[in-house]
Amino acid sequence: MLPPELKKEWLAKWRRILDDNASRMDNPEAYRMMCRWETRDMLEAGVIDEMEQFEMDELADAAYWHAVEELVTTPAGYTYGGYYDVIRRATSECVGYIRSNTYYSSIGPGADGFDGKVFRDKTALRLVFRSDNQAWAINGLVLTAPSGELYDLVQTAQFIYGKVYPIICDADTYRALVDCAQVALESRDFESYRKARPLLLSAQFTKCGACLDRFGQRENCSTCAGNGFVNTAGTQPTSPA
Ligand SMILES: [Zn+2]
Repeated sequence: MLPPELKKEWLAKWRRILDDNASRMDNPEAYRMMCRWETRDMLEAGVIDEMEQFEMDELADAAYWHAVEELVTTPAGYTYGGYYDVIRRATSECVGYIRSNTYYSSIGPGADGFDGKVFRDKTALRLVFRSDNQAWAINGLVLTAPSGELYDLVQTAQFIYGKVYPIICDADTYRALVDCAQVALESRDFESYRKARPLLLSAQFTKCGACLDRFGQRENCSTCAGNGFVNTAGTQPTSPA
């Protein structure tokens, strides 16, 4: 292939990755990395120069920060690095565990290891069982069996860059982390923010929907009693584990 054609094609490929809104909102850190890997390879192949790479990476960074700012106010959903107890809603019984997208049954575990996997196709999330290939839908933090029976996914920990962190249940710790994350966000400090974000998402608290933790409004907010955040523990059944 002639170099100009190669460049054109490669740029189109990079553009597809950059414009992939689903992957950007799904996992902004991985999205940013994918974009940067592409420009790094293009630079190595001599298809773009350093200035072009810099400008392209700036676009990916802007898209990343835009996504995470939007996600701050999004209600918690299933995260890929999450550790969850699977609780049958009708009986409050813990029937199994999800560890980084792998399901382990606690009532009738398979002979060799795991019993299912969580997959995403397009926008739908499903837990697919190993024994019979049945697929159960996951919406938010609710797993639904084909019979219509509901199971709650109660998060207990979060896997972040090679380490497992228990979810934050202490209000002072949460407040301190929110403040650190805000500084990282405002100063576009990617390394700090990428570590804080999954911890905030998996915490037992969430930003107050009434005052949005805004200075000046927070003080008189009756929803959060001036804290700027609310406890989400009451909205889900507690795990017996
Ligand atoms: Zn409030």
